[in-house]
Amino acid sequence: VQRQGAEALDRLASWRGTNAPNRPATHKRILVTGGAGFIGSHLVDRLMEEGNEVICVDSLFTGKKSNIERWRSHPNFEFFRHDVIEPFTAEVDQIYHLACPASPVHYKYNAIRTLKTGVLGTLNMLGLAKRVGATFLLASTSEVYGDPLMHPQVEEYWGNVNPIGVRSCYDESKRVAETMAFDYHRQHGVDIRVVRIFNTYGPRMVENDGRVVSNFVGQALRGQSLTVYGDGSQTRSFCYVADLVDGIMRMMQGNATGPFNLGNPGEFSMLELAQLVKDQVDPASPIKYLPATPDDPAKRKPDITKATAHLGWTPSVPLKEGLTAMIADFRARIGDGVKAPPP
Ligand code: NAD
Ligand code: UDP
Ligand code: UDP
Repeated sequence: VQRQGAEALDRLASWRGTNAPNRPATHKRILVTGGAGFIGSHLVDRLMEEGNEVICVDSLFTGKKSNIERWRSHPNFEFFRHDVIEPFTAEVDQIYHLACPASPVHYKYNAIRTLKTGVLGTLNMLGLAKRVGATFLLASTSEVYGDPLMHPQVEEYWGNVNPIGVRSCYDESKRVAETMAFDYHRQHGVDIRVVRIFNTYGPRMVENDGRVVSNFVGQALRGQSLTVYGDGSQTRSFCYVADLVDGIMRMMQGNATGPFNLGNPGEFSMLELAQLVKDQVDPASPIKYLPATPDDPAKRKPDITKATAHLGWTPSVPLKEGLTAMIADFRARIGDGVKAPPP
């Protein structure tokens, strides 16, 4: 009887706390905020495929139910339409905090809401992490470096951010979000992970979200001119979403707080990107030059030495290949009026 009792206790000990004693230790209960969005929904797919219980919280501001449709009736999945500006309670082991509009068009649309999401939303999720002892991962951004004076950007660089410009609601609230994460870590011992995500692209991006890759692909498919802001010499480094999600999950599984840059160090000017899209959709697509947007960073490229060393992570999908997958997804979604691929 004693042995049976000890075995039962061992078994219980191998199951993680919260309120689900029938859950194996390897499977966790995970909250993903922004889980119906572009990156969040790819992350939800991976976490569900691993057999975890996933709670997805999303206001559906830019996210879509269709992104998580395949899990809707799965017993391990729950969706809450909820704005993280308001407190949220759940018993979870891990929190991936992604809720925040990410496209400049979306985050400028209601700047004060963006600020509240970045500041109050992150505060609430840190409060939740503190209460339940969950590991908290913040999806920060390369925008914390602003219009960088150092190239490529290393994590030690403090950035060059305009505090009162039209991009500040996003940049500065992510900077405060990082500060809050580190203060909850120092003051309350919350186990935190901070990743600074560089431009990411792939299937499920919103077709008209205004970001450069989605704009160019959508425009080329619709037979419209590709809109280049400024002279097109500004650079960005584009990471395929599957690579990015792999990096985020490695970060959560590791034990370093970060901040670590996650991005693909391949650097392209916007004119080079336009050419790559034209090559795959329609080499005859014209380019239309429009005025540059205010505070647009001139160049951006991650130094990923830290992520590689600590997480064993390097992105593997080249831009050309990732674009092929994204174009196929956009072609399926945009539907009629789509041009045929070049022979
Ligand atoms: P996205 O807009 O597709 O996803 C964001 C999700 O958050 C959406 O589903 C949206 O509805 C939800 N959301 C927004 N405000 C909310 C609120 N107040 N409460 C609840 N849900 C809310 O964008 P994404 O590209 O998937 O970005 C996800 C995260 O990654 C964001 O935090 C973003 O800042 C960060 N990030 C993305 C990139 C990128 O290139 N995609 C780069 C750097 C950082
Ligand atoms: N919070 C939440 N869910 C929780 C616990 C806290 O949304 O499960 C919110 C809480 O409403 C507060 C924030 O997180 O606004 C910060 O919580 P904390 O306990 O750190 O601060 P306090 O409530 O003491 O101000
Ligand atoms: N851009 C562009 N044409 C577009 C959309 C964006 O030339 O139709 C440029 C934009 O000015 C910026 C870069 O592409 O220099 C990346 O913009 P995006 O909005 O995708 O992301 P950001 O890195 O600025 O947050």
